[in-house]
Amino acid sequence: MTLPSAARTVVIGGGVIGCSIAYHLAREGRKDIVVLERSKLTSGTTWHAAGLVRRLRPSATLTKLINYSIDLYGELERETGQATGWTQTGSLTLATNQDRLTNIKRQVSLGRAFGLEAEVVNAARAKELWPLIETDDVIGAVWSPADGRVNPSDVALALSKGARARGVRIFEDTAVTGLQKKRGRISGVEIGEHVIEADEVVIACGLWSREVAAMAGAHMPLYACEHFYILTKPLAEVQALGKGAHLPTLNDQDAFLYARDDVEGLLVGCFEPHAKGISTRDLPADFSFDLLDEDWDHFMPMMENALRRIPALERAEVRMLLNGPESFTLDSQFMLGESPEVPGLFLMGGMNSTGIALAGGAGKAMAEWIIAGEPTMELNEADIRRFSPEMNVLGALEARIPEVLGRHYDNPYPGRAMETARCQRRSPIHAGLVAAGAQFESRGGWERAVHFGGEAAHLPLSFGVPAWRAQVGTEVEACRNGAAILDQSAFGKIMVQGPDACAFLNHLCAAQMDIPEGRIAYTQILNARGGVESDLTVQRHGPETYLLIVGAGEVVRDLKRMRETRGDFRVAFTDVTSGYAILGFAGAKVRDVLQATSNTPLPDLKRFHFAPVEIGLARGWAGRLSFTGEEGFELYIPADMAMTAYEALLAAGASHAGLYASGSLRIESGFRAFGHELTPGTTPHEAGLGAFCAMCTGFVGEEALRDHTPARRIVSLLFDDPDAIPIHDEPVYFGGEVVGQITSAAWSYRFGRSVALAMVNAPFDQLAANQVVAGFDVEIACTRYSARAALKPAKEAFQ
Ligand SMILES: Cc1cc2nc3c(=O)[nH]c(=O)nc-3n(C[C@H](O)[C@H](O)[C@H](O)COP(=O)(O)OP(=O)(O)OC[C@H]3O[C@@H](n4cnc5c(N)ncnc54)[C@H](O)[C@@H]3O)c2cc1C
Repeated sequence: MTLPSAARTVVIGGGVIGCSIAYHLAREGRKDIVVLERSKLTSGTTWHAAGLVRRLRPSATLTKLINYSIDLYGELERETGQATGWTQTGSLTLATNQDRLTNIKRQVSLGRAFGLEAEVVNAARAKELWPLIETDDVIGAVWSPADGRVNPSDVALALSKGARARGVRIFEDTAVTGLQKKRGRISGVEIGEHVIEADEVVIACGLWSREVAAMAGAHMPLYACEHFYILTKPLAEVQALGKGAHLPTLNDQDAFLYARDDVEGLLVGCFEPHAKGISTRDLPADFSFDLLDEDWDHFMPMMENALRRIPALERAEVRMLLNGPESFTLDSQFMLGESPEVPGLFLMGGMNSTGIALAGGAGKAMAEWIIAGEPTMELNEADIRRFSPEMNVLGALEARIPEVLGRHYDNPYPGRAMETARCQRRSPIHAGLVAAGAQFESRGGWERAVHFGGEAAHLPLSFGVPAWRAQVGTEVEACRNGAAILDQSAFGKIMVQGPDACAFLNHLCAAQMDIPEGRIAYTQILNARGGVESDLTVQRHGPETYLLIVGAGEVVRDLKRMRETRGDFRVAFTDVTSGYAILGFAGAKVRDVLQATSNTPLPDLKRFHFAPVEIGLARGWAGRLSFTGEEGFELYIPADMAMTAYEALLAAGASHAGLYASGSLRIESGFRAFGHELTPGTTPHEAGLGAFCAMCTGFVGEEALRDHTPARRIVSLLFDDPDAIPIHDEPVYFGGEVVGQITSAAWSYRFGRSVALAMVNAPFDQLAANQVVAGFDVEIACTRYSARAALKPAKEAFQ
């Protein structure tokens, strides 16, 4: 087979991910696909993976993708004749402390939203299931019978066989050395002197993906870590199980360990707290079926944990300490999607040690995205557009990625934050917030103030009543009755200018954009299916000038969509995020405090209007709107004057509030947030925002919304029991059936109980009659809590 000079789609990388994407593209009917692998199929990371596949995951998206993978791995042999080694062994996850038990129970509850059954068991039952373990310290466990394992190389080979059978051409020993673009779009790949022209190129190069993406000027922030497991020689205790019998996969996350039987011996791996990063510069250029050096000093603390848990290991002869490289991402979620910088270039990687489990589902999702031109399912948390090019700084990756591996088994407590690569992006008033005692979380590279009680009011983290509840209560009170500054400077700001700015925005956004100067419109950007791609406010500054205020972290996504939608419109757009601070200013006293900073009279602003203001020595503009639903302004101030304005506000009596306070107020007010209630798979009508759609401006998605009757709706929930602490994604029941999931939750200081927003698909008749409907239950860590629901905001419905 000779290399072609053109192909419709070129997939670079013949690991499990590249093979899965090629297989699914072909299965979806795409023709003329070429896979290029610089060495042999599976020779990168895939061949030495442990092959564990666990269904219960902390998020809905991951759970769905892995469920699909498992179904596929069970069927591939029938289709291709190549076994995948899929063995349904079940998995056993131990808890040795109450928080771990809560966390694994939370996962059981989440699984129930998808019909996954798992059982909470005691230590005695855990020992029955895994007779080799010591269970003295085990306080409970979860038995998940549907989990299992595969042979990773065989999965990749089965996928490649299925792909070949559908016409995919696979070339081994073929390294891509360059990428070509025409007018900014990907146009081909270089293999030395040879060029294959292509409409689309997919990078699935594992830990080498970042460098390959850079060949086209695209960003793909990932970095590798060393990843260890031991393999023992046969052990009598494992042999005693009998031929063909297997142990379940064991997860002992409190000891940072996983284990399974392996050829009559054991495989014991770890996610150790102090991981070792490794640069691709330190790997040989011809790294293929290679491993990294054993490092017993590094592994020894994990070995000691393993010996405590599985005493039989004392008698085992260790065959090898396997050390292989795997790539991780800044937020421990894998990434996929079309490059924001280079149309036609698709990227998938940073699998965070779940690449085998995810390959089937994620490969299908990627293939569908390539064919449809946009995601066909809920992929927000994995979407590459959550990473801006600023996050692709090598120094940040080197600092953060070992921590990501090290915290793989951390309990995902609310308030948990990474400690490394901090302060990459700071608000112009950051120093003031520090002085005021802010506790920060790192989100999208930004330091975001979550409350002002410092560490003393933050720790210890908990799934129950958080340490900051009282502190946030005072901040909520200030947002209602005082004058609280909420730093929103991380919000994206995009300037749109040109003779066709109005027409362009009317095409891009669902609301009417032909608004008078000085007005603000609240709107969404939709996809062709009517799903929400962004939630934003738009200010009209002049006949041809608008400013878009978009979610923090949505700028990359929005700019990409704007470029795709621009067509012949004479319009330019510029990211001005770093140029301005945004200070939310909430509470009954904001007008008086703002006026006290300046002798220039404050304009008498109606809602959703803005006008220039002077704040002490600074000049900016104020919009009358708020993210909390309380009385207030948003103040927009040039970055270099922000500190001056902030100091003037403080001197006039302003106080502070953080994200936790604004989140609580937002949910009480029923305000929807992107990534929670609003996603590319949710229409404005489902979110209760249909009234904001102009339905006459020809916006993208308008057709899909005509005659659209939503089959599910966002509702407000108020819990009956003050002990109910929902976080996110919990299943919602009505009449004993799962009818939806929580999308946002917080403590309500107004009601003294938790409030939440949830997407539910019943009971519409009662909800539509504008009633408060009782009889809902929400399952949190295997306990059901009753709640009432309403379509209206909680603060109006549940008085
Ligand atoms: C010790 C260990 C244990 C693991 N255990 C599990 C587990 O139990 N369960 C699980 O789900 N996951 C596990 N993983 C993770 C899993 O192995 C990876 O997520 C997965 O293999 C990644 O697949 P990939 O296709 O992205 O990368 P790779 O398998 O590395 O494939 C990338 C391919 O791209 C090729 N390539 C690179 N550059 C070029 C170029 N310029 N031109 C052409 N080709 C190129 C490489 O040669 C390579 O073959 C484990 C990983 C390790 C290290």
